[in-house]
Amino acid sequence: MFCLRCGSNRLRRSRTRGLKEKTLKLLGYRAFRCREENCDWRGMLKIRDTWENRLSFNPKLRVTLSIILWLLFFILSLVSYYLK
Ligand SMILES: [Zn+2]
Repeated sequence: MFCLRCGSNRLRRSRTRGLKEKTLKLLGYRAFRCREENCDWRGMLKIRDTWENRLSFNPKLRVTLSIILWLLFFILSLVSYYLK
């Protein structure tokens, strides 16, 4: 995350204010404020859509993924058993 005014990465999360920012928050944006002196920029930035973020928001997906991983492991162990 970089400041749009000075390019610094010294940003801190800020609270969302008002309906507009709350709407943006639903779209994956977060409010940030620049900690650089003489800048004090504040605005909304889209946070990266990582797998980690998705998993923490979606427990169903996490369960599905663990079942798939477990099945893969099971199949692999079966295959290695029969190939002996
Ligand atoms: Zn700045």
